[in-house]
Amino acid sequence: MSKALNLYEREHFTRCLQCAICSGSCPTARVVDRYNPRELVLRYILDGDEDVLSEMDTLWCCTTCQVCRERCPHGINISGLLTHMMNLSALKGNIPPVLRSSIMMMIETGRPIQSNSRSERIRGELGLKPLTKPDTKEIREILLDAGLGKILDIQ
Ligand code: SF4
Ligand code: SF4
Repeated sequence: MSKALNLYEREHFTRCLQCAICSGSCPTARVVDRYNPRELVLRYILDGDEDVLSEMDTLWCCTTCQVCRERCPHGINISGLLTHMMNLSALKGNIPPVLRSSIMMMIETGRPIQSNSRSERIRGELGLKPLTKPDTKEIREILLDAGLGKILDIQ
């Protein structure tokens, strides 16, 4: 069994019925082909090896919305384990390119997505104030303190 289970109450996972309510309730699974949270977690638990995470190309599709956890008849923290699996994968440098770009953008500009004239116009129509410039120095320090410097090879 995977050592990831040490972080959670082990008996929770052994109570899994394989009923697939988690996968059937997952909004991501409805739109992403081959995404199945129950199968991802089961494969990781049975395999017990972190290397298997790099082969899970759909792992990062989880939005951590918590629906699976709320709907599970045994209250199993499946979204928590998926988050843990993503963190372990990131520590080994396995971060999808699009997410890597967003993090780099955040470090450089303070935002993962840039605003533009259209988004500013919509903000105005909604009665929202124009965005202020973020404190990029502070954001950079937070991200580097979180260990992203080593993972992304930046200083
Ligand atoms: S909903 Fe809960 S019990 Fe059912 S398969 Fe998912 S984790 Fe297991
Ligand atoms: S937390 Fe992830 S796996 Fe669970 S329902 Fe949301 S997207 Fe699906």
